[in-house]
Amino acid sequence: MQVLGLGRAAIRSTQLHAIVQNSRARVEIMKTMTRLTAALAVMAIGTAAFAADPTPKEMQQAVDAAYAKYKGLQEGKNADYIPILTKTPSDLFGVVIVTRDGKMYSAGDVDYRFSIQSVSKPFTAALVMSQQGPKVLDDKIGVEPTGLPFNSRLALEIYKDKRSVNPLVNAGAIAAVSMVKATSETDRWNQVLQNISDFAGSPKPLEVLEEVYQSEYTTAFGNRAIANLLYNYDRLYSDPEEALRVYTRECSIGVNTKDLGMMGATLANLGVNPLTKKRVMPAEDVPELLAIMATAGFYDESGEWMYTAGLPAKTGVGGGIVAVVPGKFAIAAFSPRLNAAGNSVRSMHAIRDIAGQFGVGVFGANPE
Ligand code: GLN
Repeated sequence: MQVLGLGRAAIRSTQLHAIVQNSRARVEIMKTMTRLTAALAVMAIGTAAFAADPTPKEMQQAVDAAYAKYKGLQEGKNADYIPILTKTPSDLFGVVIVTRDGKMYSAGDVDYRFSIQSVSKPFTAALVMSQQGPKVLDDKIGVEPTGLPFNSRLALEIYKDKRSVNPLVNAGAIAAVSMVKATSETDRWNQVLQNISDFAGSPKPLEVLEEVYQSEYTTAFGNRAIANLLYNYDRLYSDPEEALRVYTRECSIGVNTKDLGMMGATLANLGVNPLTKKRVMPAEDVPELLAIMATAGFYDESGEWMYTAGLPAKTGVGGGIVAVVPGKFAIAAFSPRLNAAGNSVRSMHAIRDIAGQFGVGVFGANPE
């Protein structure tokens, strides 16, 4: 309002009227004033909604504070449908920020390796986009949030046109694995692993946690049903058991919180890993990928997450979460206790606090 008032006052000034002798000149000046007023209004809104970039000191303080605030929180419990995940010490907790130029700020158990689980899903979707363009995801998988749990079989029956619905639920992620252009199962797996390792900037391929793989594959009856249903509906693009094996292996890749942070920072940096400088995905596909993360990254809790944290993010039942502040940095956290939707309780709190404190929600500042 103040900005608009200033504009009107300027136009009313006698000096201005004296200069404006003919009507064409007056129209031009009016147009310029209108543009200036609009620009100032946008700047005023911008100043109110978006905070300045945090300093290194503020970033370190923020991860330390989030770690200290939530390390005693006992809410939730380890995933147990993959038997071995019950054995991960529940009190582990790590928080990191990685900037788009690769600076890292960390607190807690950030070197502990856990299974990446569903945090792998957007990165394999990125691989499919890189190979076949973003439209193929929309055409062959879908990009709608399901509003249902990550392992929903019901979703396949409700969304009859696309079936697997989006690449961040199990059905869509198994379909994405089946869409990787590959000459054999080994080739498919090597590409999936190399791609995730490239996002993490790992000098050698990340390692699979074999015990996790065995534990999940030998109990993967629900995911096998999903793979077979998709195949039956012509929505799976390789042999179903092959897709299931590669998908389960991808979920068993061992990462630490720093790796997740670096993977997110690669997205914040429009697809170039900040450390290796390798382009891992086309810059122009990053906005589409972040859009899917924003709408479906937390499954049936995606609306709640976006409402309170305002950042595209992805969770996994291993306890990891990575959130992306586009063009700036990533916030990652790990802690094994999950809520009913399968999302890490401490990690959600930590990321939400940091995002709120820095005012970096993509639609404007969320409450602290
Ligand atoms: N591998 C897990 C599964 O298929 C991934 C689920 C998750 O992290 N939400 O059930």
